[in-house]
Amino acid sequence: MKNITILGSTGSIGTNALEVIRQKRDEFNVVALSGHTNYKLIIEQIEEFNPKYVSIGTEEGFKAIKEKFPEIKLFLGREGLKQLGQLEETDIILTAVSGVIGIEATVEAIKKGKRIALANKETMVAGGVYIRKLLKEYPKAEIIPVDSEHSALFQSLSAGKRKDVKNLIITASGGSFRGKKREELKDITVADALKHPKWSMGKKITIDSSTLVNKGLEVIEAHELFGIDYDRIKVAVHPQSIVHSLVEYNDNAMIAQLGATDMKLPIQLAFTYPEREESKALDVLDLMRVGALTFEEPDMETFKGLPLAYKAGKIGGTMTAVFNAANEVAVELFMKEKIKFLEIYDIIEKAMENHIPEEVKDLETILKADQNTRNWVYEKYGK
Ligand code: NDP
Ligand code: MG
Repeated sequence: MKNITILGSTGSIGTNALEVIRQKRDEFNVVALSGHTNYKLIIEQIEEFNPKYVSIGTEEGFKAIKEKFPEIKLFLGREGLKQLGQLEETDIILTAVSGVIGIEATVEAIKKGKRIALANKETMVAGGVYIRKLLKEYPKAEIIPVDSEHSALFQSLSAGKRKDVKNLIITASGGSFRGKKREELKDITVADALKHPKWSMGKKITIDSSTLVNKGLEVIEAHELFGIDYDRIKVAVHPQSIVHSLVEYNDNAMIAQLGATDMKLPIQLAFTYPEREESKALDVLDLMRVGALTFEEPDMETFKGLPLAYKAGKIGGTMTAVFNAANEVAVELFMKEKIKFLEIYDIIEKAMENHIPEEVKDLETILKADQNTRNWVYEKYGK
């Protein structure tokens, strides 16, 4: 029996993970769950999965859960997430909160030598340098990527040696506005940006997909996870979202992982690795129905989120934390209709120009860069 902790169990990845577990109750036990605002859903999840520990984001949710389940060890807010990161009983912790808020829990779990099933890419983008250092200090800890592209790269990297890798090729669906030019993006509404052609996901990542900032975050995530130079990480737009990413080796062989557009596979693999198990939870890919697979260059001029991410990554230090924080706030402001769609790029660009990068020595350096950037963006654009 493996004990699973899920941070963000009320979200899109979290509920998919619970579906994976639902089909394998004799193999996985839910030890802890966390939600933020949706305490009604977490109450249903507690009834079904009976976790020992729960963390919730609001006082209202805290009271409701406490009343209904007095036996549960209950935590609140950001500190609660951190507490769940420290649990001895956990075998695998799935980090599926949205945003850099997941970073402290991830750090705690590494210090406890746990397996981290990492969906929360913002953590790796903001804190990758520090997390890589920590993983060396705590060699029992391991990160198995859940992001579909990184899971595909992780799987494809087992076909050869790291020294023989020529390029990583990350695929992108192209998001809701593939093929559109800047002029056509000026008056995009929140509802337009929330319509993703292929994947059903949380709101923040769906907006990130429409700006291609998500792909930018993934380029940085790939650099931090696999230690490949930015010049050797490429992006290919692949609208069918069947090839989840590829590794090109020195002999020009390309090894890819293909699958249905279903996050349950990378989630389950992060739980069972190195085993591969069948499950009723997993969608089947029918290649005959897919028919054709196509690939094209990303439009870096229109979708500036991608070149800005390369820039932040190459500068390094705290700049990736700034790229991430500026985007998180910009997306929030866009969803509140305080800024226009294209201003998301302006905000990221200006926040980066405004920041003098520092070397990342510890978690505090990252959190400070993150907070300063948030303050700066709110101050300038949030009114
Ligand atoms: P959702 O928005 O669907 O879910 C986010 C989860 O985080 C919810 O449980 C939410 O709680 C919780 N949460 C939000 N804000 C806070 C906070 N301030 N403190 C604590 N918890 C919080 O997101 P997704 O599931 O789509 O994405 C989760 C992560 O996985 C992201 O980092 C995303 O980039 C990554 N990812 C997602 C993919 C997908 O297919 N969805 C694919 C690849 C990566 P509540 O709802 O209760 O408020
Ligand atoms: Mg992805």
